[in-house]
Amino acid sequence: MSGLSILSARGDPANRVVTGNEIDKDLDLVGDVCVIGSGAGGAVLAAELAQAGRTVVMLEEGGHHTKRDFDMQEGNMIPLLYQDRGGRATADQSCLILQGRCIGGTTVVNYTTCFRTPDATLAHWKSRWGVEGLDPAVLAPAWEKVEARLGIEAIRLEQVNKNNRVLWDGCEKLGWEKSLLSRNVRNCRHSGYCGMGCAFDAKQAMHVTYVLDALEAGAKVYANARVDQIEREGNRITAVYATILDPRTDKPTGRTIRVKSKLTALCGGAVNNPKLLFKSKITDGPLGKKTWFHPLAISVAEMPYRVEAFYGAPQSVASHQFGNRGAGKMSYFIECAPTHPTLTSIGAPGIGDEHRKRMEQLPFLSAMYAHFIDGFADEEQGATVTLTAAGNPKVVYHYTDAFWEAVTHAQKNLARIQLASGAKRVMTLHTDPVTIESEADLDRIDRAPLGPNKILLATAHLMGGCRMGADPKEAVVRSDLRHHQVENLYIVDGSVFPTGLGVNPSLTIYGLATHAAKNIAAAAG
Ligand SMILES: Cc1cc2nc3c(=O)[nH]c(=O)nc-3n(C[C@H](O)[C@H](O)[C@H](O)COP(=O)(O)OP(=O)(O)OC[C@H]3O[C@@H](n4cnc5c(N)ncnc54)[C@H](O)[C@@H]3O)c2cc1C
Ligand code: SF4
Repeated sequence: MSGLSILSARGDPANRVVTGNEIDKDLDLVGDVCVIGSGAGGAVLAAELAQAGRTVVMLEEGGHHTKRDFDMQEGNMIPLLYQDRGGRATADQSCLILQGRCIGGTTVVNYTTCFRTPDATLAHWKSRWGVEGLDPAVLAPAWEKVEARLGIEAIRLEQVNKNNRVLWDGCEKLGWEKSLLSRNVRNCRHSGYCGMGCAFDAKQAMHVTYVLDALEAGAKVYANARVDQIEREGNRITAVYATILDPRTDKPTGRTIRVKSKLTALCGGAVNNPKLLFKSKITDGPLGKKTWFHPLAISVAEMPYRVEAFYGAPQSVASHQFGNRGAGKMSYFIECAPTHPTLTSIGAPGIGDEHRKRMEQLPFLSAMYAHFIDGFADEEQGATVTLTAAGNPKVVYHYTDAFWEAVTHAQKNLARIQLASGAKRVMTLHTDPVTIESEADLDRIDRAPLGPNKILLATAHLMGGCRMGADPKEAVVRSDLRHHQVENLYIVDGSVFPTGLGVNPSLTIYGLATHAAKNIAAAAG
């Protein structure tokens, strides 16, 4: 008897997520497609497939949390909603890695910025990696569909908070490119707490949109179901095995789910996908290699007025003034960072009294970062993901000279923007912070020691590691997102990007999943 009918006997599980504590026996499920992960890629794919009449089982390792749980406390929400309780980082601790882990994935904690994929990025994927069929005109209908479903619209200037206004006004004064961002929100209350789950369901994250669409169309969705093995025989996947976790402790309950399906769609995101594939010994192609971060470096300004950068839509303005610095240089784009106390205190230098004094400045601080656009130089390796002896992902980022040059270039330009906007002083987050009070001080940044752990770096844009491309030696999946060697395995999320994007990744992933779903539905028919 299949687990689907076991669950039906316990009440009606249709139209709701089943959590780990509800599973009191091992389940043996069947379906057309098993979707692993419920984030930007997984949720959209599951909904599209279910609406196309395919039977879908979606397994998510994180818990099912809703606005009732989102109490706006960093101390509670970061461990609840992020991978490794918010503590994920590169092996040398030089770069903090922020990824979601819950029904809805990273979309539950993201800042809602939505960009279509730049034409130049798609053109590069085609010319360098042989990616076929992903031209802007082909993807446009998918984007239009997603933009309508998620209410994606540009914010108005009067809604921009004071923190983002520093970026807007600074660029205005300098004559630099700037834009108001499009966001996936409906009736945003501008609380500022996007990074901790939206307590108002204004953010159109996956758990309140596409996961519900999937459920409504008949998909079975399981939270606290961590897939530990994908079983392969020859060039086919024969089963997927998940360990059920206790929602309160995140420890295995002893129950398992086995799914046998025609197709498996891996949507666990970058870092997590190589981890699972290595564990499952499906190691074909350049698995885990060229994982891209858009690593970010931060500049903090003390403004002469209360900025309260923890309130208001966290990201509403961007500048792509340095989005194309030409061959041999790493480009970057600029956005704003909210300054909630816990995250800020991690970044704030000093200890004891010095640290306390800096934190007392919190309401007056404005923060912005440069996202470095990695992946466009052939010699760049980005991050490599392998497994530790304990089976956890080991992530090593290979920093280049071009990267460090770009960091110095960006820190100066972030400071220029903040000074142009009236900052009293600007501080970098080098281990020994550089303080700048005027343009004349900018060359201090040139003299600041640079290297891993000599400046605070983070990533919220995990991409690549299972990249798409024409050559099986150079890519893990084909342009239609089917695994090169395993004929009933697809990978549908940010891990398939051959490079960083040059813009925030979520809309590219939603669009790619919408587009790929047509072929996947046909293959599962
Ligand atoms: C703080 C923050 C702010 C951000 N802001 C923006 C923004 O404003 N705009 C933007 O475009 N992007 C933003 N991003 C990034 C964006 O949200 C992600 O790039 C995107 O959600 C990635 O989609 P994905 O499908 O690749 O993976 P995810 O959305 O991360 O989904 C993967 C899911 O798979 C699950 N999973 C992994 N392994 C397994 C397994 N073995 N078994 C079961 N489940 C598994 C994970 O728990 C997770 O829920 C932000 C990210 C962060 C952290
Ligand atoms: S800023 Fe808007 S979308 Fe973000 S958490 Fe607050 S209400 Fe939700």
